[in-house]
Amino acid sequence: MDTSPKIAFHSVKALLPTACRKMNAFSSEVLRTRGGRIGSGMGALLEALWGYMMNQALSENGHDLEIAWFANNQYNDFACLEKTASWDEKNRVGELFRIEAKSMNVGADESKAHFDVLHNELHEYDSLLILVWEWKNIDANCFSPQIIDAFFDIAKPIILLRDELHIARGGSFVDADTCPDGCSPNDCLHHGEPLNAAGKRERIGGPEIT
Ligand SMILES: [Zn+2]
Repeated sequence: MDTSPKIAFHSVKALLPTACRKMNAFSSEVLRTRGGRIGSGMGALLEALWGYMMNQALSENGHDLEIAWFANNQYNDFACLEKTASWDEKNRVGELFRIEAKSMNVGADESKAHFDVLHNELHEYDSLLILVWEWKNIDANCFSPQIIDAFFDIAKPIILLRDELHIARGGSFVDADTCPDGCSPNDCLHHGEPLNAAGKRERIGGPEIT
């Protein structure tokens, strides 16, 4: 059974190459086009396609796991569920871990920096997926989006590295005891919010005065 977040995480991670192969085979067959536009929204399509292909791979390999796509526009893209469990995304019932997906086209100058989730907002096995892709010639005329590299791992260590870089650049994090909005520490909702070197908030959830 795949009932612990740890085992489920490793099952999904082990099938990453399989899912990417499936994506590339599907893309060569269906997502064929003359040309091949940069900044076309193809990245979002590939992120979604990963969920479908990972589900096929999980099913073919006998796992009782399922990748679910969040209906609303929240931070995470996917949740890994126990296949037969009922799912309540508000309190994570039925979920083993969550996945944030990012895609990057090697030919585009895109920083894709929107990785602004706070350390305390994630659970231990919540993961980050990065798909690196490019338009490849698949015959004399046609191009297809192909995954050329992929990364899948636990997000928390990457967040710690990001936050060290934030501090090295002169940034800071709000402490509830000294919140710029003057909240009482028990009621402060800004604890951990990043402020840049000029003391300005970096997320909409930061202290209003900043
Ligand atoms: Zn506050």
